[in-house]
Amino acid sequence: MSLTRPFGSTTPWAEPTWYTGRPSPYYNDSHRKLRDHLRAWVDDNFASSSEEWEAAGAVPPELYNKCAEAGLLVPIASGKSIPADWARYGIIAGIGAEEWDGFHDFILWDELTRGGNIANLFIGLVVGAPPLRYFGSDFLKSKILPEVLSGQKRICLAITEPSAGSDVRNITTTAEKTPDGKHYIVNGEKKWITNGMFSDYFMTAVRTGGEGATGISMLLIPRSEGIRTRKIEIGAGSLSATTYVVFEDVKVPAEYLIGEEGLGFMYTMTNFNHERLWITFQALRGCRVSMLDAMEWAQKREAFGQTLIQQPVVRWKFGNMARKVDALHAWTEQVVYELEHLSDLEAARVLGGVTALLKVEAGIVAQYVANETVKIFGGLGLTKTGQGARVEAFSRAVKGFIVPGGSEDVLIDLGVREAIKLSKQQAKRQVKI
Ligand SMILES: Cc1cc2nc3c(=O)[nH]c(=O)nc-3n(C[C@H](O)[C@H](O)[C@H](O)COP(=O)(O)OP(=O)(O)OC[C@H]3O[C@@H](n4cnc5c(N)ncnc54)[C@H](O)[C@@H]3O)c2cc1C
Repeated sequence: MSLTRPFGSTTPWAEPTWYTGRPSPYYNDSHRKLRDHLRAWVDDNFASSSEEWEAAGAVPPELYNKCAEAGLLVPIASGKSIPADWARYGIIAGIGAEEWDGFHDFILWDELTRGGNIANLFIGLVVGAPPLRYFGSDFLKSKILPEVLSGQKRICLAITEPSAGSDVRNITTTAEKTPDGKHYIVNGEKKWITNGMFSDYFMTAVRTGGEGATGISMLLIPRSEGIRTRKIEIGAGSLSATTYVVFEDVKVPAEYLIGEEGLGFMYTMTNFNHERLWITFQALRGCRVSMLDAMEWAQKREAFGQTLIQQPVVRWKFGNMARKVDALHAWTEQVVYELEHLSDLEAARVLGGVTALLKVEAGIVAQYVANETVKIFGGLGLTKTGQGARVEAFSRAVKGFIVPGGSEDVLIDLGVREAIKLSKQQAKRQVKI
């Protein structure tokens, strides 16, 4: 086996190893086609204006339609596999629905994240669409999916409340059936809902029954009378439109229930596996962008009569960042491969704890790289414009990998509990065999 054509930046660690031409068992021509296409598309459409949109807190409305026309929304809403009948809304780079796999999903997010905070525009779609796809009725899917996949309407996921974040079992937003059974009346508040400001649909965890997990259901709530939204300013960037949502006597048709009453907690937990993997994809590219900028800076900035990279302490920083980032990348590829080769049911059973720990590691590595690259840039690492701007932005964004999608402490605990549960199951299987 020999090296293949290198792609992208030649700066060390700026790209995943397979981009440099080194062999990998995971990628084929279809993946390379997607990567090449996306690199050019993102550079043409996002990269140059990303900072400007961030400062304005919004993108031009036609940009979202452009993304839909380019075939971005279907893969974004899909994750590791695209249903055949979604292909009619377009798939970027002309990739067939049957070709699309978890590695296409990885490349999609790797390249989109390289385009800056613009990827935040799609967070609601990534986390809000899957419950509809996997658990929604045919009626709901045929009504809502065409609007969402074609970019006419937008969706977000509303689980967290002011008094219930990690503890999803304790949400208090209620959905009470009207006496004629035709509607739910929703009352409650949701907090930190990404993309909520511009969403037309709220995929919402509500309480339809008694206390605890079994009283929770999932309801798709169209923006309507009784819903108020206000923006929450967060450090990681304004394009994500993080939102406080109030539901006050909101009347929702009973057919907008997702799946069955009482299964909303299970739907929420199932959704988390891809969300955590997808956060890892973004953290990895953020690390590489920061390392790229820091390496270029270190090669030209002089201090004490030599460039920064000539100083052993600075090289030590790069060596340590590199081993962490490449190890995280390899683990991520392994998990993508495992997801690819297990049934959805098996994957949910054996990989929930693994994706939790993977996301924890992504947050820790991203925080490490952010700290080191800020130091390499000195004052420029704290400056929102100029050569350190992307490093400065990443140093704010890393907190967004640590808390959303499950907070670090909670996920470490989950990872260990899941591993112990699985080991007991394995021991039973060994005895039977
Ligand atoms: C930028 C951003 C975007 C978000 N987007 C969305 C969204 O789109 N939709 C949505 O529904 N939610 C969203 N969230 C909410 C997010 O999922 C929650 O913030 C997260 O689950 C943590 O909940 P909390 O903030 O209430 O923290 P808490 O649950 O109050 O926890 C605080 C801390 O207590 C500790 N802790 C709590 N419980 C345990 C435990 N069992 N074991 C160990 N330590 C523990 C941890 O250190 C934890 O970080 C978003 C949040 C942010 C900040």
